[in-house]
Amino acid sequence: MLPPRTTRQILIRDLRVGGDAPVAVQSMAATPTRDVEATLRQVRILEEAGADLIRVAVDSAADVAALRELRRHSDARLSVDLQENYRLAEEVAPLVDKLRYNPGHLHHHEKERPVADKVAWLVEVCRRHACALRIGVNAGSIAPEYKQRFPDDHVQAIVQCAVDHCALVDAADFEHYVVSIKDSDPRLVIDANVRFAEARPDVPLHLGVTEAGLPPDGIIKTRVAFEQLLARGLGDTLRVSLTLPFDEKGREIEVGREILADVAAGRFRSVPPSFFEGLNIIACPSCSRVENERFIELAQEVKRITADLADEDLTIAVMGCRVNGPGETDDADLGLWCGPSKVNLKQGPETLGAYSYDEILPALRSALERLLRERAGEPR
Ligand code: SF4
Repeated sequence: MLPPRTTRQILIRDLRVGGDAPVAVQSMAATPTRDVEATLRQVRILEEAGADLIRVAVDSAADVAALRELRRHSDARLSVDLQENYRLAEEVAPLVDKLRYNPGHLHHHEKERPVADKVAWLVEVCRRHACALRIGVNAGSIAPEYKQRFPDDHVQAIVQCAVDHCALVDAADFEHYVVSIKDSDPRLVIDANVRFAEARPDVPLHLGVTEAGLPPDGIIKTRVAFEQLLARGLGDTLRVSLTLPFDEKGREIEVGREILADVAAGRFRSVPPSFFEGLNIIACPSCSRVENERFIELAQEVKRITADLADEDLTIAVMGCRVNGPGETDDADLGLWCGPSKVNLKQGPETLGAYSYDEILPALRSALERLLRERAGEPR
């Protein structure tokens, strides 16, 4: 049995989330939304795997048109991920059951409009169309104000941002919302969610380790966070983010259900502290914004060509697009983010160059070797 939870219960169409409802398992389509056929296939794969809710990203008018088609062909519960273009909410809300906004992306459009106004407007859209809402805070895209307020406490920055946005939604007198606070490091996910739940024990939590990466490490990282949080009675819905071929996306739902069953049965997989030492490959799970389908293969190849560096204290981030790629590679030793025909290679925040998909792996390998020589105090 999972411990009792203190959150209030909300509805996502007919799905109860929070309170004594079973923990809902959800996932996200990894294909470009405007490719209706491929995205409908993703929706069906996830539905067959038992997803309670399926998210798609919408960034453009073409995506909205595709979502309309998806809705015509599927009655799955759908959630929409709004990123920078939050004003698309009005057009997509009639088609879906839930909207997600990222507080870290609200400043991009209508820069003069106060964030509180934007949130109040989003809430009104949700209310009008009977949609639930997620405040989805992501450590890779912290709102600038919170970066400035908490320059030395990354976790407090994301927790405070989530708490403040709850207050904005509360001020609009709206209850049907959940909060997620994600990071690629499961230890930070635990810390942030525990701190948030202390401040707001009533708000349902959506759990996730973002960019957990390729299996099996991506599954282990996710387990580390979910076991700790679920065992404390935290988590009302969850999403496992793995870098997988599109046809294998159902695995995310299976892993989520396996973790839930294990925690409910008291089966915990202890991870030695050494798991967090050595090479760490962070990779996004892909979504509608992925710029080139070769991204998944690229992430797998990065793992293959670095297998001999398993003991090195290195973090390599591999991201699928320009929306989150540049920001989420800043903290890695080496980062790759995909464009349509080129892959950008970075060392920390510095860009080293842009390479074709055929050239990037040798370029990465050279950069790695140079970095290791520098660390050893050898000339470049
Ligand atoms: S990095 Fe881009 S492609 Fe990857 S999951 Fe994030 S938004 Fe989607």
